[in-house]
Amino acid sequence: MRSVLITGASRGIGAAVARVFAEKGERVYLNYHHSHEAVQRLCRELTEKGCSVFPIQCDVSDPHAVQAMFGTLPPIDVLVNNAGIAQTKLFTDLTDEDWHTMLSTNLGSVFYCCRAALPAMIRQHSGRIVNITSVWGQIGGSCEVHYSAAKAGIIGLTKALAKEEGLSGITVNAVAPGVIQTDMLSPYTAEDLQALRDETPTGTLGTPMDVARAVWFLASPDASFITGQVLGVNGGLC
Ligand code: NDP
Repeated sequence: MRSVLITGASRGIGAAVARVFAEKGERVYLNYHHSHEAVQRLCRELTEKGCSVFPIQCDVSDPHAVQAMFGTLPPIDVLVNNAGIAQTKLFTDLTDEDWHTMLSTNLGSVFYCCRAALPAMIRQHSGRIVNITSVWGQIGGSCEVHYSAAKAGIIGLTKALAKEEGLSGITVNAVAPGVIQTDMLSPYTAEDLQALRDETPTGTLGTPMDVARAVWFLASPDASFITGQVLGVNGGLC
């Protein structure tokens, strides 16, 4: 049984990743920030199925809080950096605060969590890191410049860290979802969502489970020779 930490596991993609890993028999730590009720509900549901799941509150955009969180955890075998926020705004309207909040939440958190998880992985000479980036980090999203920059940063971090940790038996990969039906889409109107469907070659939006299965694959023994890669889960949107 591996110890798995999933950031942002209270809702959406992170909750689906938690379900997959927990139901496969892993010991799963579900990080969350504000959604206490949602994470408690999910933990109750999974515990009733006999899964080993533990909620852990932490704002992963805060390096001190991340350090403190890791101080309460056993060595982590699989780290899934999923926590993230979105914001749609014209580039010319972005404030310093928008920029810093986006970068610290979506990119800083990946740095802080990898930094805290790696020493134990290096000692054990094994580990899996899967970072959730976005199609917008690959191709750029209009009115999401700060989001796209943070997600592109995750891709650079993933590729560079994979090279550095290859000899330590640790793989580092990213999953780049397209448009996935979660709360993150709540600002979009029905017309916006139809336009996104029309832009996607499959004509559909993805589900959190589509992404979760890709994360599971990258953390599985079948993917032991795969590192430094970005796996698109996007219905062909690219
Ligand atoms: P949701 O908005 O549904 O969920 C976001 C999750 O991130 C929540 O669990 C939230 O926790 C957590 N979170 C946010 N900020 C923090 C923080 N500072 N500390 C800890 N946890 C935090 O988003 P999705 O499930 O859609 O997104 C998950 C990831 O997938 C994100 O990185 C997103 O950028 C990426 N993605 C999503 C796409 C989509 O179309 N949905 C497309 C491409 C990428 P809480 O609720 O407890 O505050």
